[in-house]
Amino acid sequence: MGLIKSLVTWSRVKSPWVIHFNTGACNACDIEIVASITPKFDLERFGVQLKGTPRHADVLLCSGPVTRQIESRLKRVYEQMSNPKFVVAIGTCACSGGVFNGCYNVKGGIDTVIPVSAYIPGCPVRPEAIIDGVVKLLGSLKNPAAAPKLPITIDPAGVLEKGA
Ligand code: SF4
Repeated sequence: MGLIKSLVTWSRVKSPWVIHFNTGACNACDIEIVASITPKFDLERFGVQLKGTPRHADVLLCSGPVTRQIESRLKRVYEQMSNPKFVVAIGTCACSGGVFNGCYNVKGGIDTVIPVSAYIPGCPVRPEAIIDGVVKLLGSLKNPAAAPKLPITIDPAGVLEKGA
């Protein structure tokens, strides 16, 4: 890996910028995402910073099933992010459509519209699981050879057992 590429990877892993997008969630997963970013759980200690525009973000944090109304907006937000970009599906609805799967106005999970790099199930998902997922995703960016292949799936029960 060339020096410039190493530097870019180093800076991306040390300070990934994220954007949060609700594609139809009931808001419970969103509250947990906010909790994980604010001081109690403090995702910022890993250098993660919340941004307000997809053009500045490396990672798209999605919550909720994809409703038919939001589908084109999700695609637009994803296309506005620069490469390389990563998508994290947060909550069971984002992973698979969850309890809303099969509704006339729901397309399904996030991966029915855009590629997903990490799945973090839970209803609602817990901040510990969100942090575990983001840290594992960063680990795989840092050292792709040693890390699990994308997409990653987080086991929320395992996270709680570890007391992460
Ligand atoms: S996974 Fe549960 S908490 Fe999260 S958006 Fe779906 S229904 Fe709401």
